[in-house]
Amino acid sequence: MSALTELYDEIAVCPDCDLSRSRNRAVPGEGPEDAEIMFVGEAPGFYEDQQGRPFVGPAGRLLDDLLASIGLRRDQVYIANVIKCRPPDNRDPLPKEIEACRKWLERQIELIKPKVVVPLGRFSLAWFSPNESIGRVHGQARYRDGIYYLPMYHPAAALHAGNMRRAIEEDFHKLPAVLEEARKGPKEEVPEPEQMRLF
Ligand code: URA
Repeated sequence: MSALTELYDEIAVCPDCDLSRSRNRAVPGEGPEDAEIMFVGEAPGFYEDQQGRPFVGPAGRLLDDLLASIGLRRDQVYIANVIKCRPPDNRDPLPKEIEACRKWLERQIELIKPKVVVPLGRFSLAWFSPNESIGRVHGQARYRDGIYYLPMYHPAAALHAGNMRRAIEEDFHKLPAVLEEARKGPKEEVPEPEQMRLF
């Protein structure tokens, strides 16, 4: 069994917060173990909780379309969430839930070693960079500790707001160039705030 499969088995029975009592299924994440790009959403919704797979509802269909717009299929990237179990009625995740779940995403990042991470939406951005606002930094690539980050609006938000939809479409088109840069290998660390803007 691969380390990632073992991790999924642990997540499936995780009892570490109250969401373990209301979930149908935990949603660990999916994608190749050697994926270069990792998308990180917020939390499973209704369909994800039913199927145990990330981004399989309407937001997932948009994500698939956005991937196709740059010539990628979902089975070529890794897709995870900040928290692995659905909050009741899709409410925002609570800080204590995010903290209880932190170890799982940390271990996914350690195992997959993505070259590029795409935080989707404010909760995911906050997980990586607590003091930033998605409205200000979406579409701006930055480099930190060996990983390139390209934050974007959450696809579910983009479904309902035309301006965010246009922004996420534009931001997706920056991904191939960021990946190309990341494939060149580790970069010298640059001090804040310069590390914020690469493109
Ligand atoms: N929204 C998310 O943030 N994650 C999912 O898996 C589905 C919808």
